[in-house]
Parts: sequence; structure tokens; C-alpha cells
Amino acid sequence: MKRIAVLTSGGDAPGMNAAIRAVVRGALYHDMKVFGIERGYEGLMNGDFKEMTVSSVSDIMQRGGTALKTARSKRFMTPEGFQRAADMLENFEIEGLVVIGGDGSYRGGLALSKIGKTVIGLPGTIDNDLAYTDYTIGFDTAVNTVLSAIGNIRDTSSSHERGTVIEVMGRNCGDIALYAGLTGGAESILIPEEPVDINKICRTLIRGKNRGKMHSVILRAEGVEMSAEELAKTITERTGIDIKIVVLGYIQRGGSPTARDRMLASRMGYKAVELLLQNGMTSKAVGIKGDEIVYYELEEALNMPRTHDKTIMDLAEILSR
Ligand code: ATP
Repeated sequence: MKRIAVLTSGGDAPGMNAAIRAVVRGALYHDMKVFGIERGYEGLMNGDFKEMTVSSVSDIMQRGGTALKTARSKRFMTPEGFQRAADMLENFEIEGLVVIGGDGSYRGGLALSKIGKTVIGLPGTIDNDLAYTDYTIGFDTAVNTVLSAIGNIRDTSSSHERGTVIEVMGRNCGDIALYAGLTGGAESILIPEEPVDINKICRTLIRGKNRGKMHSVILRAEGVEMSAEELAKTITERTGIDIKIVVLGYIQRGGSPTARDRMLASRMGYKAVELLLQNGMTSKAVGIKGDEIVYYELEEALNMPRTHDKTIMDLAEILSR
């Protein structure tokens, strides 16, 4: 392959820039021409292509967000949209497209692949909700952002001797809550994958209160069926502990990527280029298993069923007693 392109799509994630940089510089190293497409599939349909040089990606690795900008495009999600996008790739003589995004972006890539395009997916999402890879780009930074917030909230809440329900991102996947909960010492972790056991939460809080604990954190992923308000109200009614609610929201999306995310993005971005260099390459999704960079057929990767790691939840419960 001689001409490739890269875009970012869906929710932005810290580390996307490091992935763009690795794709661009990896491609240039192998004497390919590489184009950046702005605003995801929207820009692809509009022909927003710009040829990238080594200096196009200078000074972006340490920045959160995405230098190529991102978008969610409804217009793309029609047979006409897919065809228009494929025609644009033809016009620019692009032989391989690297899509950095989450599962929705991958589905878009799959649609393009079904009409003859070669797409390599890189998992850029803070959610860690793609089953085929242990980690997605941006997840580690988001967990560290939540950890730092838990620390700040503990400082003020222990002074007031109250508990806090902290709501973090994760509509279908509770990994941010799970990892930040274990490493931040949360007393209870609520994730969409498991039913809420309010009796257990109250028992834990009362046990803590009885041994003089000044403050408790209940970490709730946003997809959990019981709302933060309902949780706080029920806990106060049953335990007498004053509970505040903090919704962390979009701060979890931003920030300079951690070393771990930059490493993941750099390795995956370069792998995408290596795959595109192979003759007759079909669409693939790049991931990590253990410490090894792996890849699967794009469709196979998308169809893998996701399970959460129950051992992390068990460990968090044992250690937060
Ligand atoms: P995040 O996990 O951060 O939300 P995402 O990639 O899942 O990222 P989406 O908004 O779901 O974000 O998808 C990004 C874009 O991909 C959509 O705006 C749309 O253009 C395209 N897309 C999403 N779902 C599909 C689908 N089923 N078929 C084709 N294209 C899709």
C-alpha cells in the first residue's frame, strides 16, 4: 500500500493523538503517503483530507482530545453515506483507512469494509468496552483522572464526616468504576454488569462508621439501574449517614494521556501501519492481550461477547473492609 488515511471518530479519548502520530510517522517511515481526515466519518464524506508530514504531528502526543477533531455522524449511517465515504476514499486513491474510535466507529468501519474498503480499527475510547482487547486507548488516563477526583473528594468529605456517591462514565461497561474503585479504595463499587445490592452497601457503610471511619466512597457507573439520587436517599434513610452526590462528567474525557496510554497508542498505531503494508490485507481490529499487540478480523472483534473481571470486584470488596 502506498496511500493511507487516518481519522478519529465518536467520543474523544486521551491518547488518540499519540495513535495519530504513530500512524503518520510509521507510514512516512515506510515511504507511504498518509492523509489525516478531520471530523471522523463526517469529514470523510465531505472530503476533508489533508496530507500529513512528520511535523503535522509534532507536539500533539502529550495533549488530550484529538488533533483531527471528532464527530458523530448520522448522515454517514445510511447506504448512501457509506457509498459516499467509499467514493471519497476512491477519489483520494486511499488504499487503507485507520479508524480510531469505539464500537460505533468500528461498525462504521465494518460497513465500509463490506463495500470493499480496507479498514484497520484502533480502540480509542475511555470506556474499555471492546471485548477483544484487554485495554482501550484512553481508559488508563480516565481511571487516573477519577482517582485524583476521589482523593480530592475524600479530603473535604472526611472533614465533614459524610459519604459520597461519585458517578463516573460507563453506560454498559463498568470498568472505569471497577479499576478506579479498587485503586481508590472505594467502599462500594456499582457497575451495570451487576445488580445493586443496597443491603450490602448499607452494611459496609455501617461497619465502617462503627469502627470510626470518617468518610466513604460509593462509586457508581452511570449505567447502573439505581440512580445516584435514589442511592443517596436510601442510604441516608437506612444508615443515618449524610451522602453527597458528585457527577464527574466530561473531565474524565480530557487531560494529558498517561505513559501507559501513550505506549498503547504508539504500539497500536504502528501495528496498523504494519498490517496495511501486508499484501491483500483485509479489515482488522488491533488490540492488546497481556503485553502482546494482537489483531482480529474487524467483524470477529465486534462480535466478541464482553465479560467483566469479577476477581477485581471481589478483591475490591476484601480490601476495602
Ligand atoms: P464512544 O465509545 O466513545 O462513544 P463510538 O465510536 O462508539 O465512541 P459512536 O457515536 O457510537 O461512538 O459512533 C461514532 C460514529 O460511527 C457514529 O456517529 C456513526 O457515524 C458511526 N456509526 C455508529 N454506529 C454505526 C453503525 N451501526 N453502522 C455504521 N456506522 C455507525
